[in-house]
Amino acid sequence: MTKIGILALQGAFAEHEQVLKALGVETVQIRNQQDWEAHADIDGLILPGGESTVMGKLLHDLDLFEPIKAKIDTGLPVFGTCAGLILLAKTIVGDQTKHLASMDISVARNAYGRQLGSFVTDAKFKGIGEIPMVFIRGPIIEAVGPEVEVLSQVKGDIVAAKEKNMLVTSFHPELTGDTRFHAYFLEMVAQAKEEKL
Ligand code: GLN
Repeated sequence: MTKIGILALQGAFAEHEQVLKALGVETVQIRNQQDWEAHADIDGLILPGGESTVMGKLLHDLDLFEPIKAKIDTGLPVFGTCAGLILLAKTIVGDQTKHLASMDISVARNAYGRQLGSFVTDAKFKGIGEIPMVFIRGPIIEAVGPEVEVLSQVKGDIVAAKEKNMLVTSFHPELTGDTRFHAYFLEMVAQAKEEKL
């Protein structure tokens, strides 16, 4: 059975659990190093939305930063939403801060400004079709490296992308009641599992 770890330090992690449960997948919360070690057999990891600065600091304080980065950099399928996307990005525009810095994307935090900070829209997602997207003070992907595939754009801005084992969205697919996005991630997880066998 597929087992997905969800980083549960802060932010919107419970909603991912509910979607994955609805899809019949086992989930485990990763809150500390013991959890990480006890669940070394996870097939994929979700980095949820929340506040990237807080989550980034907690990863270091809890000694989770190095082991998680090592697993991602050696192929563990990972999905980062919103703050999770920021954690995975190599570059944060106008900021020296680097978190996991595993994915070749450059992102602007809180890119929709104060007025349009949060909104809901429907847009095309490559490989799925039109899906609902909830934005909550989300980032925009301003630039992508040559290995990165752009999966969705809203009004010309890149809001979803994939590079090898890493999938990111500026929006929150876990807040819409539509399970197709998580099914897409699980497909990625299944493929990675098959390649390992
Ligand atoms: N604005 C948050 C950040 O910069 C992200 C918001 C979210 O995850 N919904 O970390």
